[in-house]
Amino acid sequence: MTGLPADILKPGMKALYYSGVHRLLAPFAEGMGLIFMLHQVSPLKQGGYSPNRGLMVTPEYLDAVLSDVKEAGLDIISLDEAHARIQCGVSSNRFACFTLDDGYRDNLEYAYPVFRKYGAPFTIYVPSDFPEGKGELWWFALEEVIASSSEITFSSQTGTTQLPTATDEEKTAAFEHIYFHLRDQNADTQRETVSRLCQAHGVNMEEQCRDLIMTWDEIRTLASDPLVTIGAHTMAHPALAKLPEDRARDEMKRGADRIKEELGVWPEHFSYPYGNPESAGPREFSIAQDIGFKTAVTTRKGVIFPDHADHLTALPRVSLNGDYQSSVFTRLYMTGAPFAIWNRFRRVDAA
Ligand SMILES: [Zn+2]
Repeated sequence: MTGLPADILKPGMKALYYSGVHRLLAPFAEGMGLIFMLHQVSPLKQGGYSPNRGLMVTPEYLDAVLSDVKEAGLDIISLDEAHARIQCGVSSNRFACFTLDDGYRDNLEYAYPVFRKYGAPFTIYVPSDFPEGKGELWWFALEEVIASSSEITFSSQTGTTQLPTATDEEKTAAFEHIYFHLRDQNADTQRETVSRLCQAHGVNMEEQCRDLIMTWDEIRTLASDPLVTIGAHTMAHPALAKLPEDRARDEMKRGADRIKEELGVWPEHFSYPYGNPESAGPREFSIAQDIGFKTAVTTRKGVIFPDHADHLTALPRVSLNGDYQSSVFTRLYMTGAPFAIWNRFRRVDAA
């Protein structure tokens, strides 16, 4: 999970596309390939108050993305192959990888058939607590708490506030207020606050987790297909950089070991929960390398350059966001131009 759809690139992106400037930038910006990031894939219609809708794309949009990527002539490859190509620094053809975070059940039901249709490999990163119903998907719990209430009492270190949550607008405003507050907290404070809200509003996080996330059996079904790679995503999905080093290491290592126990294969690829610079930085990049992951992905925006051979545990991704479901964006992303502008033409961001 990576947070709200707060992509500030949006206003300028269509202008960039229709001006054709992206084509001029492409030779400097497109790199060797890109790693797409998804979360939920579902035909569910989302309107009104649906604060997590940025995390969900429709199966039709995923189908269109795969078709656009093929049409653009990119190779759709596994992370193992991407790792090999980045390591040797050359790729005869540009590549695209597809990754999905968290292990949502809709990945099996809706995304898998689309990837199979195109024979496209993909990776799902699973926090090992989630398939056991122990995952605290607090961003969905908070959505449900607010959906079912007309007023929220929210207590933080700065005091107690009453937030009106009767209308869709009030619900959205309250969600954003609490969400951004919680995202800055350490895992323990976050857990305590969310569990208090859930208790007060009758939201059952375990039930919600079992409902949204695949079981180990379902993950095994997927893992038996050679198109599918299962990657690690910690145990409990904490913001690692906010934890003491030994706890961060433990989360990363034990999450992967648990996957090995269930699937018989140690996951060689890792995704940092949230993946933004405040949640994963140089300390985490170096722990991932120590533990022995071949690659680790962030949610920093960007495409892959040969320079990433020295930063295989700090790879950027390109988010396929529910708020941007149009071929215009896919085609623009593939040129790398919006990310070159965003990163001021700096190719590697691993600080
Ligand atoms: Zn996640």
